[in-house]
Amino acid sequence: MTSKILIVGAGIAGLSLARRLKHFDLDFDIIDEKPSEYKSGAGIALPFNAVRELKDLKVFDSLAGRYHQVKEINYTTTSGKTLGKANLTDPPFDQEMFIAMKRQDLHAALSVGLEHKIRHNTKLLSVVHADDQVDVSCSYELLDGKYDLVVAADGIHSTVRSQNFEGQETIRDHQMRCWRFIVTLPEHGLEPIYMMGKTDLFMAYPISANAVYCYGHIHEHSPSADLTDNAADNLRKIFSGYGGPVPEILSKLDEVKIVTGRLLSVTEPRFYDRRIVFVGDAANGCSPLIQQGAAAALEDTNILADALAMQNIDQALESYQARREARIRWVVQYSDGPLPHLLKMESWIGRAMRYLMIKSRGPLNVYGWKKLATDRLLSNS
Ligand SMILES: Cc1cc2nc3c(=O)[nH]c(=O)nc-3n(C[C@H](O)[C@H](O)[C@H](O)COP(=O)(O)OP(=O)(O)OC[C@H]3O[C@@H](n4cnc5c(N)ncnc54)[C@H](O)[C@@H]3O)c2cc1C
Repeated sequence: MTSKILIVGAGIAGLSLARRLKHFDLDFDIIDEKPSEYKSGAGIALPFNAVRELKDLKVFDSLAGRYHQVKEINYTTTSGKTLGKANLTDPPFDQEMFIAMKRQDLHAALSVGLEHKIRHNTKLLSVVHADDQVDVSCSYELLDGKYDLVVAADGIHSTVRSQNFEGQETIRDHQMRCWRFIVTLPEHGLEPIYMMGKTDLFMAYPISANAVYCYGHIHEHSPSADLTDNAADNLRKIFSGYGGPVPEILSKLDEVKIVTGRLLSVTEPRFYDRRIVFVGDAANGCSPLIQQGAAAALEDTNILADALAMQNIDQALESYQARREARIRWVVQYSDGPLPHLLKMESWIGRAMRYLMIKSRGPLNVYGWKKLATDRLLSNS
């Protein structure tokens, strides 16, 4: 008998799982509350392990011409003075690629072939465990009923997770306001640069020869975070003293669409509970320090689909957790590690300690990526 599987969410996690299940001829339904025309804003940086997964998924080639390969990471002061630099073409990354692109282009590529399968404008309303199944209700009644497996791929604000762990705190708010946008900068010649102030940081990450994905953040309790509802005004106020490419970028803010957000994480990674399994941000959403969001979603779904193709559901869920747990716990811990200490950067001692750490280890994201690439204990064994 074939199992009835429902994937809730058609973001990176839901789409990549759908592609994998289709490959294994496993049937499923997939729903998303957003309309099909929705385009996710801003850019996305994809480190080596996300690129590996996209290649394995046979999606990478279709991205040709829509991504930009980055080769170096530079951490600097607000004036642009280098604190730590790393080359992304040296071992262990000499056979790997780091890229960045528009988010909407990645979504479009992952959606190819699934257009008729995804039920858009369909919101999951409730999930209730029922013996070896899950009783589901959603805004499209024909999909209501019992499923053998529900996959929560519904992002950091996961309804499935909050209902399954009702009464428990499942999201951590880091009190950080962040902004993302893409700006046109003809022939910028930039490599990714992370400019660090106190609790404020500005990142410029090229996504093509003429466009740069920008990200800025600040701790809401920082004395210099006198924030309003106007994203462009906030960015101008916080980053006006910065050097490097920032003044030119800020001069273009009226031309760009800014996505405002907060940094949120799961309080702890979730893997599965009875016949509900968690993937992507619903399982392990965390800060973007080492840009593991897409990579984790792609790795989660690769391993889950493999397990479902070879084992019965209960065994598959067990092996999914067993193979992912060490790596995911490390990713969440490393990504969120600096955030509770960020307010200490208001003092020069805090900043001196941070500079020393960057001087000794190099850029913290590259240090994290090296660990993921080389530490056997963190492999998806
Ligand atoms: C500021 C910031 C910068 C980031 N930068 C990067 C980066 O550079 N690189 C990187 O890899 N990651 C980055 N991330 C993380 C990355 O965006 C996420 O990890 C990734 O989008 C997770 O994909 P997902 O499919 O799990 O969730 P989502 O992309 O959130 O998709 C969830 C889907 O579920 C749908 N949904 C939600 N609730 C329901 C419901 N009740 N019923 C039906 N559908 C529902 C939503 O409409 C959505 O389409 C960043 C995150 C932030 C906050």
